[in-house]
Amino acid sequence: MGPASTRSNVKLSEIASTLASLGAKPTQSLGQNFLHDQNLAKWIVEQVGIEAGQPWLEIGPGLGALTEYAQERSENGTLLEKDDRIIDWLRGRFPKLGLIHGDALDYDVRELFWRGPVRVFGNLPYYVSSQLLFRFGEEPSPASSMVFTLQRELAERLCASPRTKAYGALTLLLGRRWKPELVRILPARLFTPVPRVDSAVVRLTPREDGSLDECDDRLFRNLVKRGFAQRRKQLRKNLDLERWPEIAAAIGVPGTARAEELSLPQWIALTNLAGGCTGDHSAKAQDTTGEIFDIVDQHDRVTGQAPRGEAHSRKLRHRAVHIFVFNNRGELFLQKRSLWKDTHPRAWDSSASGHVNSGDTYTSTAPRELLEELGVSADLQEIGGVEACEGTGWEFVKIFHARHNGPFRLPPAEIECGGFFTIEQLSRWIAARPQDFATGFLECWKTLDASHQLLH
Ligand code: SAM
Repeated sequence: MGPASTRSNVKLSEIASTLASLGAKPTQSLGQNFLHDQNLAKWIVEQVGIEAGQPWLEIGPGLGALTEYAQERSENGTLLEKDDRIIDWLRGRFPKLGLIHGDALDYDVRELFWRGPVRVFGNLPYYVSSQLLFRFGEEPSPASSMVFTLQRELAERLCASPRTKAYGALTLLLGRRWKPELVRILPARLFTPVPRVDSAVVRLTPREDGSLDECDDRLFRNLVKRGFAQRRKQLRKNLDLERWPEIAAAIGVPGTARAEELSLPQWIALTNLAGGCTGDHSAKAQDTTGEIFDIVDQHDRVTGQAPRGEAHSRKLRHRAVHIFVFNNRGELFLQKRSLWKDTHPRAWDSSASGHVNSGDTYTSTAPRELLEELGVSADLQEIGGVEACEGTGWEFVKIFHARHNGPFRLPPAEIECGGFFTIEQLSRWIAARPQDFATGFLECWKTLDASHQLLH
């Protein structure tokens, strides 16, 4: 017997004695299959790539097989465990780590943003693995990468190629934002009790900027789900798109194609064509030609006009609106600016915002921006203003309040994703990581905070 299996046996008896001391047995309904190979545990944690001081979150730490190696790399970690019986034991064993006792399916991932990009990992309980993948992987996600041990069959679905049985909605819905990689198959015998099926370790890394075209997220989801609802049927019938023959030809598939025949880039192209746009979002985002602003003095009085580029490069004072959209729960919607924006790309920003064009007013601009950026209309009420300064990019800003629960239609050229956040979550996030936000938004936030207008 080699050194690895000797250590492994030690671990097996440790698991048994810890469980015995807790008066507990592994619970099938909690998906409890404990990893007893320490070399492998260490290897899995290596795949997560945690660096010193980096924040991480482990889902379902159980008896800490992975946790001890993660803690060796960074003590800035949090454990999320459902089992009542092992919580106190975990607290005693890992006193330096954060510990959340609860169901990972109910966990509000928005609580993580203030910590910066978080490495998320775990040997997941199989009965909820796919739901957890969506919970942590869906936009907006605070995860900078995810490494999960999954049931082998689920791992294969995530990483599947077109025209295979495993390829489906899950592959595409997660694959649009995450690049999946099946790193290793793990035989069932490495876990105790031994599960009925093998497992696999999958690493999900965010897709590189620009590696895929952007598209409307909601429409993409809707089309993919409809396309695979009856996977043996042709898309012509499943999608029922008026211009299907034309779209099929444009994306290079026969009119008789089924959902599984389209690659991810083809699904994205289909979404853009069905939504009536070309997919050339970068050009659209940068096309600001012809925009003329009123230039104003330090008292916000119009003194002349200038093209957008000149107003910005010469730091001439001009005008803009920011709209803060709250839902019925009092949460504020923030948008994440697209990577093509000329200022603050990929920063978090007000729900909607935009320049006041020459000849327009603040009040006429606000509803137009709300419609253009979020695809909705709502009653707007002016709730504050910010003087032109470096932080606003020399814009005088009027801030408007709107109430809407979404969903919104976000133009992919302008906005990468968005989400509602509680005011407490945002206060904490802004205090910890102001660099994540557009400075104009921060100025508006400061103003509203000072006048107690944020807690609706
Ligand atoms: N990480 C440990 C290991 O590798 O030995 C345990 C892995 S075991 C497959 C799954 C773990 O997830 C268990 O500790 C179980 O109690 C926990 N768990 C099950 N359902 C959960 C849920 N909904 N939320 C959080 N933890 C859960």
